[in-house]
Amino acid sequence: MQNLRNFSKKSWRSFRHVVAAAFCLLTACSGSSSSHVPHGLQLVLDHRPAPATDTIEVFVCAVPLRTDDPIYGTLPLRLDLSAAKIARTLEANVRPYFVQLSHGRYEPHFTAGTTLTMGTGETHDQCVDRALDASSADAAAVLVVANAEHLAVEPGGWGKPGTACPTSFCRAASTRRSAYIGASDFHPDNGIVPLLDLIEHELGHTLDLPHSGDTAAAYDSALDVMSDSAAPREVQPARKNAQDTIAIDRLELGWLAAGDVTVAPQAGGTFDLLPSNGADAGDGSRLLVLPVSDLTFLTVEYLDNTGLDDALPFAGIAVHRIDQSAGVCTNPVDDVCAGIDRHQIALGSGAPHTDLLRGAGTRRTVDGWSITATGTATGETAAWVGVEVHPTGG
Ligand SMILES: [Zn+2]
Repeated sequence: MQNLRNFSKKSWRSFRHVVAAAFCLLTACSGSSSSHVPHGLQLVLDHRPAPATDTIEVFVCAVPLRTDDPIYGTLPLRLDLSAAKIARTLEANVRPYFVQLSHGRYEPHFTAGTTLTMGTGETHDQCVDRALDASSADAAAVLVVANAEHLAVEPGGWGKPGTACPTSFCRAASTRRSAYIGASDFHPDNGIVPLLDLIEHELGHTLDLPHSGDTAAAYDSALDVMSDSAAPREVQPARKNAQDTIAIDRLELGWLAAGDVTVAPQAGGTFDLLPSNGADAGDGSRLLVLPVSDLTFLTVEYLDNTGLDDALPFAGIAVHRIDQSAGVCTNPVDDVCAGIDRHQIALGSGAPHTDLLRGAGTRRTVDGWSITATGTATGETAAWVGVEVHPTGG
């Protein structure tokens, strides 16, 4: 494959024209004999998109100094937190994060609930249940912040999508859609604005997003807010917001259109990719899907180290195995582990998975596919990368 680095704009256009003819665009080929949309990909395409706007009501759970909830142990710190103040801070800082992440397709709003005082024998989960019961009629989810830190061995929080909402709005009190975090990120040492990446991660779970990384519970990928959301802060110490997400999550929530996806034919081919974290393209060039089996496929995407991903050391190609087979979760529905139960494994790199495939001729061979970068160039609107994929036959 020729090196495309020095293509002129004219030859770039003609190359794209030739490549576009070889593309099997998802929208154009669906149902034809020359393309097969893997069942697993169809499940993601069929996922209910995120709402355009969302109302998230903030509650504080005040933890007594003596508590039976083991998540707090005997840690003595209790912060003076106000639901109204937290809601204002998140409206000013987390709302714009999600607007940027979704390219303007999702705008959460944060409203103030109240402070709930926990009893000595009450757990944080029970306090969240009380917050859900007390939530306003216009709240689609609740975010609960404890005023006590968690023990270091405990997770920082959790998020749940709740039961499916078949209409444009369902009350949190009905679906139980909720997120919870401990107080650590609100410690005064973090400044006036708390650390926000964990809240953004847990809110991702309330939208039914799963983790990604070495395993479903590794939290070791710097490529995804739904993995190591704190990774950007290692490069940018003053950073409060998380990084971007990966293309499959964007697709699930309707933040990347089906027309930006190409399914590679079984024989493979050569494709050019625009950044999955960049602007809409509409020509199948933001996500390349390599079928593996009925419920498993690979995603090949070009991540640019700009915008929310500006802490990445390089731009380059990321490869993930998307697995929704029944064996990967504890409670498959109709023999499928979809949504938050989907497994998304970063392939061909070690944690933190920032060593993206780049440079002409660099290659990864994973899950029966050989994936080779063929070069980069600057097109009319964005830098793009060429990629050649072939089945390895074994
Ligand atoms: Zn998580």
